[in-house]
Amino acid sequence: MSNFTSSNILVLGGSRGIGAAMVRRFASGGGKVAFTYAGSREAAEALASETGAAAERVDSADRDALIAAVAGRGALDIIVINAGTLVMGDPLTLDADDIDRMIDINVRAPYHAAVEAARHMNDNGRIIVIGSVNGDRMPFAGGAAYALTKSAVQGMVRGLARDFGDRGITVNSIQPGPTDSDMNPADGPMADTMHGFMAIKRHARADEIAELAAYIAGPHGAMITGTMQTIDGGFGA
Ligand code: NDP
Repeated sequence: MSNFTSSNILVLGGSRGIGAAMVRRFASGGGKVAFTYAGSREAAEALASETGAAAERVDSADRDALIAAVAGRGALDIIVINAGTLVMGDPLTLDADDIDRMIDINVRAPYHAAVEAARHMNDNGRIIVIGSVNGDRMPFAGGAAYALTKSAVQGMVRGLARDFGDRGITVNSIQPGPTDSDMNPADGPMADTMHGFMAIKRHARADEIAELAAYIAGPHGAMITGTMQTIDGGFGA
């Protein structure tokens, strides 16, 4: 298990699901972990007392609050930008404000958070953005706007890797496939359809995604940058 003792770590969107698994993984590795949340105060407080991580309520859609929260953590070693939402449905009837809020959280926030983190980050730091295999493949109707947000992450990661490489800072996206969480329950109505697209026909567990993040953030990840690390059971194959 990689050792994160003395690492200053921030997970954006850490109260539930994949983000909570990140908080647990980095805290169990000895890191000084803080995480943000928006709506799930009880879950955040329970996770904070379970792991010793610090929880702060920050809506990623509030750009100024987000930037202040990232700056407030000082010289980070690792930032995991996980907060994301999913709006699916017929593009002809979906609410335009809901789509724009998703774009705020899934695209604008990762960009501003990554740049602000880099402003203060220690050399050889790690910026990890949780994208999605849907950035590569959207094999059913109703996901165009979500796929748009996750494809945007890909371009950002490639560009920022070049911007910060001279300081040894790596910038990568982890692209999960179906992963058991409130957003996408393993026993949800879409599960069988999604498993039909996969070589390994099950949802991933959030801790499997967190372990990949730990590898990228650890000492063996120093030469991994500008990449999309897909962990999807073959969904995109
Ligand atoms: P969940 O809905 O289970 O959890 C989302 C987390 O993000 C919660 O902690 C939530 O906090 C936080 N969050 C959401 N909106 C905001 C916001 N505006 N500000 C701050 N925090 C916010 O989702 P998952 O764990 O499944 O997803 C995590 C990431 O992984 C997302 O980026 C998602 O797109 C991506 N992903 C998920 C897949 C899946 O199958 N589950 C597949 C591919 C990618 P709170 O509840 O406190 O608001």
